Amino acid sequence: TVELTVDSPDEMRELGRRLAGLLRAGDLVMLTGELGAGKTTLTRGLGEGLGVRGAVTSPTFVIARVHPSLGDGPPLVHVDAYRLGGGLDEMEDLDLDVSLADSVIVVEWGEGKVEELTEDRLHLLIHRAVGDTADEVRHVTLTGVGDRWATADLG
Ligand code: ADP
Ligand code: MG
Repeated sequence: TVELTVDSPDEMRELGRRLAGLLRAGDLVMLTGELGAGKTTLTRGLGEGLGVRGAVTSPTFVIARVHPSLGDGPPLVHVDAYRLGGGLDEMEDLDLDVSLADSVIVVEWGEGKVEELTEDRLHLLIHRAVGDTADEVRHVTLTGVGDRWATADLG
């Protein structure tokens, strides 16, 4: 587990761009954090780092949005699992035109719903700490779960 302090939205995007360099097809990234924590901002950076088409925006009204790669990299599948009641089964029913195994999947609000998707996942917890005087300070806890992340350098 790695703990980072992120001081601004720009720095959060930069973190996303950096993490994108570690990601490959089939990876699952889970984002946890309250509304306004910066989950979508981080995902925007992931999209930039992966070189996908179109800006990443909140998928709230669509559950999942597919961002194809501009190059030959994997597409980014950005999921808002908030309204995904049944979890994995519904996820498979979403009828995305890409296979999840060939994509980098980023899920907001996915706790208890998408863990079965793969044995490995990168979990990011984003939070504001009581006592932070600056409005833009966020604390990010990165935890790699499974063999895939056992030797990764997340720092
Ligand atoms: P979420 O998807 O977690 O609800 P968003 O990324 O949509 O959050 O929104 C985060 C909001 O907080 C944005 O308006 C952003 O400008 C602001 N913000 C302030 N500081 C930060 C920071 N350090 N990291 C990310 N967002 C920040
Ligand atoms: Mg969001």
